[in-house]
Amino acid sequence: MATETVFAARMAPVAPPLGSASSELPSLIGLDREQLGETLRGCGVPERQIKMRVSQIWNWLYVRGISDFDAMANVSRDLRDVLKRHFTIARPEIVEEQISNDGTRKWLLRFPPRGAGRPVEVESVYIPEEGRGTLCISSQVGCTLTCSFCHTGTQRLVRNLTAEEILSQLLLARDRLGDFPDRDVPQGAMIPSSDRKVTNIVMMGMGEPLYNFEEVKKALLIASDGDGLSLSKRRITLSTSGVVPEIYRTGEEIGVMLAISLHAVRDDLRDLLVPINKKYPLKELIEACRNYPGLSNARRITFEYVMLKDVNDSLEDAKGLIQLLKGVPAKINLIPFNPWPGTNYQCSDWAQIEKFADFINAAGYASPIRTPRGRDILAACGQLKSESERMRKTERLAFEAMMIANHGEDD
Ligand code: SF4
Repeated sequence: MATETVFAARMAPVAPPLGSASSELPSLIGLDREQLGETLRGCGVPERQIKMRVSQIWNWLYVRGISDFDAMANVSRDLRDVLKRHFTIARPEIVEEQISNDGTRKWLLRFPPRGAGRPVEVESVYIPEEGRGTLCISSQVGCTLTCSFCHTGTQRLVRNLTAEEILSQLLLARDRLGDFPDRDVPQGAMIPSSDRKVTNIVMMGMGEPLYNFEEVKKALLIASDGDGLSLSKRRITLSTSGVVPEIYRTGEEIGVMLAISLHAVRDDLRDLLVPINKKYPLKELIEACRNYPGLSNARRITFEYVMLKDVNDSLEDAKGLIQLLKGVPAKINLIPFNPWPGTNYQCSDWAQIEKFADFINAAGYASPIRTPRGRDILAACGQLKSESERMRKTERLAFEAMMIANHGEDD
């Protein structure tokens, strides 16, 4: 069965690479063109040069992927020196880098305090698949929402990430995967055996992206800028637990693909699993989805549905799901529950997941069962949690033992 390789896998930490650097200076990463122009004016760049300098620096940062001002060969030495004194373009520090036996990679990154804050740590996950590579990016450290099946939800919110910190997760992953074609591959980079690199990004890591709307918007507009990182908006998916007013804004102001953490088709159950439902119940949520701009059969909303044994996995639930989504161009992702220490939930039996999927398929919905990825390194959906709150080593070993024991039972 699909979980077999995952359970058989072992955590494989990789030594943090040499040369990861961070700086407490403000970063140029994450500034939009206008802000970058303002910054250059402040550095004394003459008005007639601003547009050209912005294009040059944009190209160095997002096409070439450099993280050192000295590499900006077509920028005058004087300007480079001024920039170096006042700003940084360094990557965050890699605290830990892990690779699962299934090829999933997870990074724990530490960002320096900007101003009066303290350093924060976040996780991002890279999932290589046939013909594509998806990077799962975090938008907050911790989360204020308390979805009861989610490990991140047990970690209190430390703070929102800035556009710089959101984009840096993408830049760093591309560094580590050798995905900036013009650059030398950094020492210790983990290059996938095929040429699958970062083709897609999903805002599905730690946090609720729509509770950090402005910074997420800025980061995603930079990621999709055609003269920079050039990711098509069709290859960027923002996943929300259902912050209805910001779903409308996402459609109008960002225009990326939408995913909804649905998980239940009745308000009483969704109130328990995804408590934001008490504020924005299913009727309002589905109405916002129905009105999402540009929907068609080729551009559908993804509904995430975690399979919890004896909680939401009956055929009655499957029927309810079909009724709820009537008229919404939708794809349903069934996610076998990824266990984490301390949870009271269990993953639905595989046969039940298949029955549920068949029922939905028969009603005409694509409903892939998402193969769990990176469970052994706690990189799977709903398992992320940052260093400050991670398991102690002994707890982690106990967890690994539990996973192996479960695998034995599955056989
Ligand atoms: S599922 Fe998302 S919104 Fe809910 S607690 Fe987890 S990280 Fe927060």
